[in-house]
Amino acid sequence: MKCPYCNHEETKVIDSRETNDLSEIRRRRECLSCTKRFTTYEVIDFPELFVIKSDGSRELFDRSKIFRGVVKACDKRPITPEAVENFVRDVETKIRTRYDREIKSKLIGQIISKKLYKFDVVAYIRFVSVYQKFSDINSFMAIVRKVVEDDTRDASTKEQISKLLQTASELITSQS
Ligand SMILES: [Zn+2]
Repeated sequence: MKCPYCNHEETKVIDSRETNDLSEIRRRRECLSCTKRFTTYEVIDFPELFVIKSDGSRELFDRSKIFRGVVKACDKRPITPEAVENFVRDVETKIRTRYDREIKSKLIGQIISKKLYKFDVVAYIRFVSVYQKFSDINSFMAIVRKVVEDDTRDASTKEQISKLLQTASELITSQS
């Protein structure tokens, strides 16, 4: 590995670590000539994965699309950009390990919503309402109610959802 500063060809590895999901190895190197330090990454070279959309058309799998969808769902939630990044990486790893040639876009949506349900319930509701393209408020409310009735939720989450429900019903009342 050539030094990016002085082009010297000998460097030593001073630190090497793998990411939690083992998909990436980061190496800290030091140039034996100028002693400057730089980082190299070793990543898995995934084969091309195609996404089959609902109209039957295909496009190359693009993690930035998942990222944008999750960022939008997590807007104004107490979630760090790093947590979103890790979330998306987990989703991608799950998809890549199970599907090596093609996957239906609907399935990607299901994988994301299942994970979001445990990650952040408000983000989950937002994501599902966009992804399932609810035509009426009743099917949306049915999803929200299901979340509220889940007994495994802690008290503060339940309170957040109740508030959300209240806002939604106020919105409906004001519109009718
Ligand atoms: Zn150097």
